[in-house]
Amino acid sequence: MSECTHNCNTCGQKCSAPQTDNPHELSRIKRVIAVVSGKGGVGKSSVTAMLATAMNNKGYRTAVLDADITGPSIPKMYGVHGGVQSDGSGIFPAQSAGGIRIISSNLLLENESDPIVWRGPIIAGMVKQFWTDVIWGDVDYMFIDCPPGTGDVPLTVFQSIKIDGIVVVTTPQSLVSMIVEKAVNMANMMKIPVLGIVENMSYVVCPDCGKRIDVFGNGKAVGDVAQKFGLPVLAEIPYDARLVEAADGGKMDDEFDYIAPAADILESGLPVKAH
Ligand code: ADP
Repeated sequence: MSECTHNCNTCGQKCSAPQTDNPHELSRIKRVIAVVSGKGGVGKSSVTAMLATAMNNKGYRTAVLDADITGPSIPKMYGVHGGVQSDGSGIFPAQSAGGIRIISSNLLLENESDPIVWRGPIIAGMVKQFWTDVIWGDVDYMFIDCPPGTGDVPLTVFQSIKIDGIVVVTTPQSLVSMIVEKAVNMANMMKIPVLGIVENMSYVVCPDCGKRIDVFGNGKAVGDVAQKFGLPVLAEIPYDARLVEAADGGKMDDEFDYIAPAADILESGLPVKAH
């Protein structure tokens, strides 16, 4: 019997995985990677942006679908503001200075500081529309900045979008095991492979002597949990004030070397055909 392709549109297998929606007819998206975290503030959006920038700089056509509808930070990180255009058949994504295509609830608001106070089903519907109604064009790698946790919006993302793999972002504290376990269990339920874990804010580098200081103890928590679930640690990212400056200053088109190992693994694990 043939292997599951993780794409319900092409897979001939009968299974319990839900049927995903088709993207807009003018979208050809080769690989979709969802970036998830157990809770907010661990650097999920920053890691999404770093991964997108690394893939874009490798020459791949790259996009970010900001599914964090109530806490959208991707446009600001790339210095992208203002409305998006539509032609009646769909919405065109905005573009960063480096050419990364972006859609986000923030780009649809009249005022960027307006709060989004919609209820879950409306929010989930918007995420779905970001997939079905946006004219993405040809995309090699799309990164989805998922909302934190395992609530109904991440569930909608997993159910309606054809996802090739999940990257879990975590900081190395004691809850890491539970957080990763929840994400892995959710991914398993949806039959989506977990590609690995990105450990963020895991250490600082002393500016005077260059020594690595593990601010959360011995620095083994993420390695241990990765081993428990048989997952690779894709990258270890230190606490680095330059990242805050880049994110706040709309300069996430600048590449951060820390993410390079993760980008290399994605490139080799989920290769796309040359365009
Ligand atoms: P999340 O998407 O998980 O809510 P963000 O990526 O928005 O998290 O990051 C939360 C805050 O932490 C932001 O101000 C961001 O600039 C900062 N941050 C994220 N990762 C790092 C890091 N490695 N070093 C320093 N600051 C970071």
